[in-house]
Amino acid sequence: MTESKQYRVGVLGATGMVGQRFILLLENHPWFTVTTVAASKNSAGKQYADAVAGRWHYDAKIPHSVADLQVYAVEDDLETIAKEVDFVFCALETDKDTIKKIEESYATHGIPVVSNNSAHRATPDVPMIMPEVNPAHLQMIEIQQKNRGWDRGFIVVKPNCSIQSYVPILEAWKKFKPTRAIISTYQAISGAGKTFETWHEMVDNVIPFIGGEEGKSEQEPLKIWGEIKGNEIVPTESPILSANCIRVPVSDGHMVAVNVEFEKKVRPEVLISEVKAFRSPIESLELPSAPKPFITYFDQDDRPQTKTDRDIGDGMGISMGRLRHDPVLGFKFVSLSHNTVRGAAGGAILVAELLAAKGHVATDA
Ligand code: NAP
Repeated sequence: MTESKQYRVGVLGATGMVGQRFILLLENHPWFTVTTVAASKNSAGKQYADAVAGRWHYDAKIPHSVADLQVYAVEDDLETIAKEVDFVFCALETDKDTIKKIEESYATHGIPVVSNNSAHRATPDVPMIMPEVNPAHLQMIEIQQKNRGWDRGFIVVKPNCSIQSYVPILEAWKKFKPTRAIISTYQAISGAGKTFETWHEMVDNVIPFIGGEEGKSEQEPLKIWGEIKGNEIVPTESPILSANCIRVPVSDGHMVAVNVEFEKKVRPEVLISEVKAFRSPIESLELPSAPKPFITYFDQDDRPQTKTDRDIGDGMGISMGRLRHDPVLGFKFVSLSHNTVRGAAGGAILVAELLAAKGHVATDA
């Protein structure tokens, strides 16, 4: 491992479903210690354990180190929070303009923001990082700071949960030049912040609509594969992606079925061996949350399955299988990732580990 410094971390939206996942994943983290938790005015002033009483989403207990922390108000207590943290994770659920304003005011106060929110994902000078795919986009931080007049502060976002299952696979096949892909997602109810207890309509049901999800699933990969030109990231135009996003009665784990066409001729066994051999550009950094292996290929026809395989690599690994001939586009496969670990808090923690390892966040601790 390359890093031994300790960082003080704040979680904005710490009382929510994703915020709680951050709290659990950061317990005993080798580099990061949660010193500060913040949420809306409704929770501010309470002890964390009281603020989440009756809405703690997980089987694991609230970590002792956080249970007694006083919850701050994200906006009103910014000055105090700024003195207590080296950077923050942001997992708020409110309107996009408010989230943008909050993230920008933290960056203005010199605080790096690693965001789980979608508000800034389309902002051209905000890098959207999937650490194994586009770590080079961290170069945008310096450009963003110049654009905005920020010194230590900046905003980095992680992408939407739906794309984590297929972007890594297409990345592993980049040299064969994917030109078009049709992506059908089968998304878990936790992606909407719900459980079967809170969303009865989802028991024995499939809902063929997830607001805003298809656009994100089609556009976000293009920014991740985009190029830095001047003072912004310009999305790539290829491959053309078409997404159908469907909510299914599964607690956790987003499955996708993908049909894909390549410009170059390739045989299926070569695609399988390429994916098995794929090494991410951050592997040598040995980041604490990076799964080994990054992608797991199953030879069995009935794998991956959400219940059996979503926790692969502690929920940070991507699994796939059923690579086969497709009479329309050439090839098809299925793949899976854990939406609230890799797709939310865990993915953001991995981004922060990369930022720390590359010297983008400073610590006063
Ligand atoms: P959630 O359970 O509703 O939690 C929302 C959090 O935001 C709470 O801590 C809440 O504080 C706080 N909050 C709401 N309004 C606020 C305001 N005006 N000022 C300050 N804090 C405010 O939401 P979630 O499911 O964790 O989702 C959080 C974000 O992650 C969303 O943008 C969501 O789209 C995204 N996301 C979720 C998933 C998932 O699987 N759930 C996956 C990927 C991305 P109080 O408790 O005090 O109200």
